[in-house]
Amino acid sequence: MTTLSDEAIFALAAGGVQALKPYEPGKPLAELEREYGISDAVKLASNENPLGMSQKAAKAIVDAAQYAPLYPDGNAYYLKQALVQHLSSVENAKVKASQLIVGNGSNELLEIIARSFAGQQDAIMYSQHAFAVYPLVTQAIGATHQMIPAIHWGHDLNAMQQGITDKTKVIFIANPNNPTGTYLAADTLLSFLKAVPKDIIVVVDEAYHEYINPERRVSALTYINDFENLIVTRTFSKAYGLAGLRIGYCISQGAVANILNRVRQPFNVNVLAQSAAEAALSDQAFIHDSVVMNNAGKKQLYQAFDVMGLNYILSEGNFIAVEVKSSMIEVNERLLKKGVIIRPIEAYQMVGYLRVSIGTKVQNEQFIQALTSILSECESIV
Ligand SMILES: *Cc1c(COP(=O)(O)O)cnc(C)c1O
Repeated sequence: MTTLSDEAIFALAAGGVQALKPYEPGKPLAELEREYGISDAVKLASNENPLGMSQKAAKAIVDAAQYAPLYPDGNAYYLKQALVQHLSSVENAKVKASQLIVGNGSNELLEIIARSFAGQQDAIMYSQHAFAVYPLVTQAIGATHQMIPAIHWGHDLNAMQQGITDKTKVIFIANPNNPTGTYLAADTLLSFLKAVPKDIIVVVDEAYHEYINPERRVSALTYINDFENLIVTRTFSKAYGLAGLRIGYCISQGAVANILNRVRQPFNVNVLAQSAAEAALSDQAFIHDSVVMNNAGKKQLYQAFDVMGLNYILSEGNFIAVEVKSSMIEVNERLLKKGVIIRPIEAYQMVGYLRVSIGTKVQNEQFIQALTSILSECESIV
């Protein structure tokens, strides 16, 4: 019997899968410390919450551990009740539990949405410089990419509207966008929703919703009961500090939720994540503290970039994209040697830019000092 070569195995993969490139996450801290033999490294690469998580969530995880031998509640009953309550009291949004789907991170929901509404004959639209998962899920299902050029680093909703064809089935919008931090005002988004044909699913990804300046913050959730093709996604990974548990949710009208619910795995969200998320929602003081720290850190970093004479993009998230005007490979390598992990974002068509997550005051200072000294060294090597 002949054995199949690696090439022959590769040829078995579906067309869209062959062209996939694995998502490149930020380097884990422990790995960097091991590789470079250092101990006080700081990771500002994945937009995690530098304050960690709510103590209520931490306790809920421990308490829920006893349920690990049992399958989780596939319908996330208690969490959905808590979300309905939270969205109503904190965000003044009237949604029913039947409009919610909980996912293994909002990443899973983005994938379920793409798979539910688009196939190989269809197209999925997203903006240039948008979150990397949109092209990834498009590629994985073998759909056509409709990447629309950005305007001032943000989504060009007019161009997106004009780019719609009869193949377009799903449109992904990140608001704020990662990695640029750009934000679409409510009226712009509302006009877009009105203009898009109702048979195209519009996903507004609000992973950084909690961080937006309250004066500008309007969730697409406000319009959820007016547009049957609208889906809003949220996550517990960022401000809520539960990235390691993998949990997010989406809100839509019941008919869309019903479809997503058929496609998701029956037990997609584990018991610890469900309990922790429920507890985390009940601790809005933690979110408040996190946002206060983020705003202070943003100011600290903007000021430092001004001093260094670097261009940066004003951000509504917990990260900033900054142009270092030197070889990004070189700057990144030198930052790693100094124990600072950031994210080079050349893969987002942002040559010379890096994205730094906003950390604690001390972490930001460590990054600022490292970058300052590297850029003065690098002047000679540009
Ligand atoms: C981090 C992020 C997500 C999702 O993360 P999950 O951990 O999968 O919930 C979604 N969208 C954007 C724009 C993000 O930056």
